[in-house]
Amino acid sequence: MGIVFDGISKVFPDGTAALHGLDLAFDTGEFIVLLGPSGSGKTTACRVLAGLEHPTGGRILVDGKDVTDLPPRFRGMGMVFQNYALYSHKSVYENIAYPLRVRKMAGTEIDRSVRNMADLLQIGRYLARKPSQLSGGQAQRVAVARALVWQPDICLMDEPLSNLDALLRLHMRTELKRLHRELKKTFVFVTHDQEEAMTLATRVAVLRDGRLVQFDEPKTVYRRPASRFVAEFMGRPAMNTFEGMLYAGMFRAGDIACAAPGIPDGPVVLGIRPEQVEIVDSSAADAVRFEVDVMELVEPDVLVFVRSGTSSMIVRTPNDDRTFAHGEPLFLRFPPAALHAFDAVTGARLT
Ligand code: ATP
Repeated sequence: MGIVFDGISKVFPDGTAALHGLDLAFDTGEFIVLLGPSGSGKTTACRVLAGLEHPTGGRILVDGKDVTDLPPRFRGMGMVFQNYALYSHKSVYENIAYPLRVRKMAGTEIDRSVRNMADLLQIGRYLARKPSQLSGGQAQRVAVARALVWQPDICLMDEPLSNLDALLRLHMRTELKRLHRELKKTFVFVTHDQEEAMTLATRVAVLRDGRLVQFDEPKTVYRRPASRFVAEFMGRPAMNTFEGMLYAGMFRAGDIACAAPGIPDGPVVLGIRPEQVEIVDSSAADAVRFEVDVMELVEPDVLVFVRSGTSSMIVRTPNDDRTFAHGEPLFLRFPPAALHAFDAVTGARLT
């Protein structure tokens, strides 16, 4: 039981192809995040699932039933969009109650459901207010409450946190996680923010140019990215990558040389996450010499930007109050187990 995008394509009337045969299947009760850069087709995928766009190819299945031609109101999906519009003339209470009134629910039932949902989202105090009297985060929570109050089986959220400041985003993130746990419904969440994806998703679907490039648990997407694109997209700062040559277990790119066992000979892109680079003594056998460019504090860590010839990279290390002066030599080690190798032409993961 679950949701299936079965070869979904979408070509808009102006000829723009937004999705190319998207295949994606997930289970009821999951928290799926559609992640990708701007224009990768996330919103289109979400709108096709909602029934707001008709695909030009493929089918949408919900619990085994083909809903491709079913209008949105028969799909049992709640929606929250980036530019959610609350009814400005209605109170918060009436905004949340609206989907229940449309469904002709009894008054006492409506009251119970609205108050339950408001409690869950901690907006019970604001029920009498008008939307104009709310902060951005409170208004956002009202939009979420309105989308979920009628207990849809599936809740679709398209960048619902993007209008909020950083602190509120964090707070709402936690609330959404809690809400998902308590309601046990299927959540489909669109974002281009990889941190949001990492923290919220049971599984992340990474899209690029209208195609699915990886679908896995967040930690797998981070630890075993399927391609160079995913490797550089997941993680801040991004994974360091070097274009070079591999020969007999040794990788070389300009002045950099390091052991990279188990990777086939030939041109390759080698990657390592900033937090996995080790700072070592100049005498270490496998030390690679770099020069410090700048350092940035991101407590409790420090980011050290280093160079070697034309190559540059970032090292992330716990801040132990050591200073890294511009021009100072820094010896680094790339533990073989931390290396990722990608095809130099296609970017696909090699090992
Ligand atoms: P963003 O993060 O910027 O919202 P996205 O990943 O959600 O991007 P979509 O909005 O799905 O991407 O758009 C995918 C592609 O389809 C883009 O090239 C976009 O310009 C195009 N597109 C979206 N809607 C239409 C439309 N109505 N007509 C023509 N092209 C469209």
